[in-house]
Amino acid sequence: MFNLLKTPEALFAPHGCMICGSGKGPILDLMQEFSAQQLRLYLCKIHYVQVARDAGLIKGDAMDELLRVRETLTAKEHEHEQLGERFTALRRDLELLLARYDEKEAEAEHERQRADQLQQQLNDVREATTATLAATQEPEYEPALD
Ligand SMILES: [Zn+2]
Repeated sequence: MFNLLKTPEALFAPHGCMICGSGKGPILDLMQEFSAQQLRLYLCKIHYVQVARDAGLIKGDAMDELLRVRETLTAKEHEHEQLGERFTALRRDLELLLARYDEKEAEAEHERQRADQLQQQLNDVREATTATLAATQEPEYEPALD
């Protein structure tokens, strides 16, 4: 006893095919519950046709094509997921590199400021030395005696 549902709106849990989980119509309702959770047995078209074909009830060219398309689709989805993961990893690496660059840039700026300070101190010492030297060369210069 079973019921072929064209629109799968009013499905009981698990609301889809017992093999693949698809809730896309048409859905074959086997009118049976299983497991402690009383899950309803459903099969999507791909799987009820596959069951019928494997049981030798129908010929399989269209089904083979359908399964091949689905395999390709699953592989593409997997590929897409992997690309997404790779993209996320690359973005994380890039953010780390940018943060490190900012850190290095701040350090470099600090070093530049320190170099400017030292240069200013050196200039002050040089000016003071020049002034002292000039003063000792004045004719009225007398060295201080202790
Ligand atoms: Zn299925």
